[in-house]
Amino acid sequence: MNIHEYQAKQLLAQYGVAVSVEIPCKSLEEVRPAAEKILAGGSPKVVVKSQIHAGGRGKGTFKSGFQGGVKIAANADEAVSFAQQMLGNVLVTKQTGPDGRKVQTLLLAAAAKIKKEFYLAVLLDRVTSRPVVMVSTEGGMDIEEVAEKTPEKIVKETIDPAVGMMPYQARKLAAALGLKGDLIAAGAKLILGVYKTAWECDTALVEINPLCLVEVDGKETLMALDGKISLDDNALYRHKNIQEMRDLNEEAPLEIEASKFSLNYIKLDGSIACLVNGAGLAMATMDIIQHFGGNPANFLDVGGGATKEQVTAAFKIILQDPNVKGILVNIFGGIMDCNVIATGIVAAVKETGLKLPLVVRLEGNNVAAGKKTLAESGLTLITGDSMADAAQKVVKAVGN
Ligand code: GDP
Ligand code: MN
Repeated sequence: MNIHEYQAKQLLAQYGVAVSVEIPCKSLEEVRPAAEKILAGGSPKVVVKSQIHAGGRGKGTFKSGFQGGVKIAANADEAVSFAQQMLGNVLVTKQTGPDGRKVQTLLLAAAAKIKKEFYLAVLLDRVTSRPVVMVSTEGGMDIEEVAEKTPEKIVKETIDPAVGMMPYQARKLAAALGLKGDLIAAGAKLILGVYKTAWECDTALVEINPLCLVEVDGKETLMALDGKISLDDNALYRHKNIQEMRDLNEEAPLEIEASKFSLNYIKLDGSIACLVNGAGLAMATMDIIQHFGGNPANFLDVGGGATKEQVTAAFKIILQDPNVKGILVNIFGGIMDCNVIATGIVAAVKETGLKLPLVVRLEGNNVAAGKKTLAESGLTLITGDSMADAAQKVVKAVGN
């Protein structure tokens, strides 16, 4: 699960990471009072930031033609006028794809006087199976580009999860950012706070781009001016407060529906819907469809022990995609009882009045009973003897 910048900063602030004074606004009426409050607090300017689950907002463009999803306003009037251009409008950035995202929340924050922009991230290294804390002096830019062109400008520390991040590691990274004097201690403290956020919230990624050296009352200090946090869904049950940060506006409606039934569904662009148990098999199924010249309409893993209700829900979800021209059910009964799937298929086809070609390949646990259920159901479906056979049949059926 992803959360918004303002929510990420709320979490970071709880772990002692410095962030600017900020107020999220969901409607235009809230913008003027928020801007006035921030200005009254002593900040000479207010930054108005579009909140969407995608980066590159600063350089993004609204479909209306308005430039920039992050704007600095000199007064409350200007903040309101920026807000009018942003709220309810669709912002297209490098990360949103051409469809963009509708901005439904704004973040108003005290605009910091930036002296330097850095990059800081905590992620999981799959090779070492350990958290890695990464910094770069090249903040505010596309980090992928930095990694490609000037990899030496990215400095990493691998963390032993048994002991956590050691203070010397944080100081090393602060020094790598070129910080001097008191700022090394301040930088180390901030980095440790970000690591603690990542560790305690069970994140898959925390990214602060930019982490800034800012000037407040003539004094230099460090502050997180942007924040991206991706949570590990498998650990979300441990964090009630974070679960409440979920914003369904940012998720595809069919994927939300799927998550209600604990189905892993991801919509794709093709015409052949797949219903599969197990993520590995689901990926192999998508590959084999492509191999025989078709295009998968989705990734759908019903899990190892799906029930009849889940199978029915899965059918309804894939049928809501207007691009779907045929369905391939590919089940390997390991834990799964093939007859449960067969019963679910029959119920779903009857309930949805399915007219599209349906190819079913069942194998494994209780397969004979499953095949019998399908055969006796009176439904017109195509059976596949193997994955290759089933894939070829569905590609052919859709092609016709
Ligand atoms: P992103 O483009 O989606 O990554 O959004 P950011 O939150 O990183 O904002 C984009 C850019 O706006 C940053 O890299 C900064 O240069 C600038 N920016 C953001 N907040 C402030 C601020 O408080 N003061 C100033 N001066 N610039 C800011
Ligand atoms: Mn950013």
